[in-house]
Amino acid sequence: MANRKRVVILGGGFAGVYTAMALEKAIGRDDDIEIVLVSRENYLVFQPMLPEVISGSIGITDVVSPIRRLLHRTELHMREVQGIDLERKVVIASPGFRPQPHLIPYDHLVLALGNVTDFRGMRGLAEHAFPFKNLVDALNLRNHAIRAIRESAIEPDPEFRRELLTFVVAGGGFSGVEAIAELNDFVRRVARWFPTIDEKEIRVVLLHAGDRILPEMAPHLALFAQKILAQRGVEIRFNTKLEAATSDAAILAGGERIATRTLVSTVPAFPHPLVDALPVAKGRGGRIKATAEMQVEGSSNVWALGDCALVPMINGELAPPTAQHAIRQANVAAHNIVATVRGGQRRTFTFTGLGKMGSLGHRSAVAEMFGIKISGLLAWFMWRTIYLAKMPGWGRRVKVASAWALDLILPPDIVELKFGESRGVSQAHFEPGEEVFHEGDVADQIYVVLKGQAEMVQRRNGADELVAILGPGDWFGETALMNETTRYVTVRCRQALDVLSLPKRDFQALSSNLPDLRKTFDAIKDRRGLQKAGVSAGGGAPAV
Ligand SMILES: Cc1cc2nc3c(=O)[nH]c(=O)nc-3n(C[C@H](O)[C@H](O)[C@H](O)COP(=O)(O)OP(=O)(O)OC[C@H]3O[C@@H](n4cnc5c(N)ncnc54)[C@H](O)[C@@H]3O)c2cc1C
Repeated sequence: MANRKRVVILGGGFAGVYTAMALEKAIGRDDDIEIVLVSRENYLVFQPMLPEVISGSIGITDVVSPIRRLLHRTELHMREVQGIDLERKVVIASPGFRPQPHLIPYDHLVLALGNVTDFRGMRGLAEHAFPFKNLVDALNLRNHAIRAIRESAIEPDPEFRRELLTFVVAGGGFSGVEAIAELNDFVRRVARWFPTIDEKEIRVVLLHAGDRILPEMAPHLALFAQKILAQRGVEIRFNTKLEAATSDAAILAGGERIATRTLVSTVPAFPHPLVDALPVAKGRGGRIKATAEMQVEGSSNVWALGDCALVPMINGELAPPTAQHAIRQANVAAHNIVATVRGGQRRTFTFTGLGKMGSLGHRSAVAEMFGIKISGLLAWFMWRTIYLAKMPGWGRRVKVASAWALDLILPPDIVELKFGESRGVSQAHFEPGEEVFHEGDVADQIYVVLKGQAEMVQRRNGADELVAILGPGDWFGETALMNETTRYVTVRCRQALDVLSLPKRDFQALSSNLPDLRKTFDAIKDRRGLQKAGVSAGGGAPAV
């Protein structure tokens, strides 16, 4: 269809997936609108239940739903969005199997990228604190907690043992409170499986900057939550700020150290770097200013919603970053995109919120719904019923309900999953005739030849011209990496070739932190600048 419009949605969270779902519904059987969703995962994470992944009261994959099952007419591109060119109306996404940039042109763009955990400005947190935002964070924390307990069970040094059995969470908002409630229950239940550990040895500490936790809730509900947590052995430190972290301590403002090997931080999230770089109007917290119709201020074909946007509500306030608001915004955005393409009446965002609920684990919760404030077992039952009903797909609901039922009678699962470490330096082998990379490919690695021989060629006047022959000890691939460009040349294996490869991120970290290495590469880069014109140097010195 000649006039077919393409709507490209960035982000596979509540805002993005629900926009696609609402668009599919609104479009009906017509094919005048095509939907593309770009997300780095192929699943939607049901974040309200993420804390339960720590304790394992629901299965690891029960908290996620495959996007393909939720969307039937949407094309899913499982890629990392790397750039957005608003002028050319193109999204630049990461390469797939072939190292070539993935360009996605659009007519309408929906920004639903959420926000990111960012420990900027907090010493040592990026290195030593666990974030708590997505499925991988929850799994990492769960595995780490099991490891700390298992290690403490065989640790003879009492001081180190105490450190291993101390668990600290910073942040007394919803996610911090829900995370500590689940973590506390979990570590105490797991420890029962280790006869050498006395439960009294376990210390679980919640650090909170204010004078009461859950500041979003009515004071008596926050006090109820505090009492429940304290009864279960959680030590709450009020008016206490986490300032820094090391591998073995949480360091508080004022200098106090809490010796621990498990520090979780639910510090406020930051705007997404892609959003940060966009030339659009932004407001509080760097979020994109959207209208009540979900359109980005000053634009006719860019829409923004969810945690990355500031959307005005009819009560004059800005919508809070919650899933319930993102879902309602998605419906409005989808309706308005269709109305813009086909012509029709637009809608504005009128939702103000259904209420707030926080689970305290162990059959207790606090809730404020429709003006009613409740706590304890009834709130917990309401929490579970409402979130179960909101989970996308019947299959998931049945699984979660059965997991909850079984959790009441079965002991905790203490399987410790070992994930592969991040790859860092790796080795690769090429057979004669194979290309290591091709001119124009995305530059993502630097290489060192260990064994064999390769030729470096450049396409000039329609033919391949030899630039250099590479042998053991030669390196290649650094110039395009340093210049942030695509490959200038093609490197092809001549004799069976073994190379070491170092990913771009690691190479950049090394070259920017080792001044001598940086100087060496800069000198090589200058020298190689000449060779770009075609002077062959051999010996690992060509420009690539
Ligand atoms: C632990 C926790 C508990 C919560 N509990 C509740 C609750 O009980 N009730 C409630 O209403 N809200 C809750 N929230 C908040 C709620 O989950 C968020 O408001 C909601 O998820 C926002 O949706 P979003 O789509 O805007 O962002 P996100 O859910 O963050 O989704 C953003 C998506 O964009 C993708 N993405 C980001 N960058 C890129 C990129 N460069 N390339 C490709 N894809 C990218 C991400 O992978 C993700 O899929 C909770 C949040 C957390 C962390």
